[in-house]
Amino acid sequence: MSIDASLCGNCGRAVVPPRDLCPYCGPRVNNMTATKLEGRGEVLSHTMLHNPPEGFDAPLKIALVSLQHEAVVLCVSKSTDDDAIEIGDQVTVVLGEDERFFYSLSK
Ligand SMILES: [Zn+2]
Repeated sequence: MSIDASLCGNCGRAVVPPRDLCPYCGPRVNNMTATKLEGRGEVLSHTMLHNPPEGFDAPLKIALVSLQHEAVVLCVSKSTDDDAIEIGDQVTVVLGEDERFFYSLSK
C-alpha cells in the first residue's frame, strides 16, 4: 500500500499528508510535487501511552516512523503483538480508514 505525500524539490524531503508548502523550507520556496511513498519504514522513537485519547484502549503503543525521503509519521500499533519494537526496527505502515497510521513489524 502506498501513502500519499508531497515531495519538496528544494530540500528533497517528503511530507505526509500532502501539503502545498514545505514545512522545512518555508513559504518562500514553492516546489512541491505529489508523490507516493511505500508503506515501509524504520522506527525512530516509540513510547507507551497509559492514558491514550478517547477511542483507544490503554496501554497504547505509538511510534515515530521514518519513511522514504525522510518523511516522518506518527503511528499506533496495529496489535499488541507489535508492542515489542525497538529503535531501528523495520515496520510496515498503513493508513487506516479513520486517517490514522498503523504500524506492524515487517516480517
Ligand atoms: Zn523543502
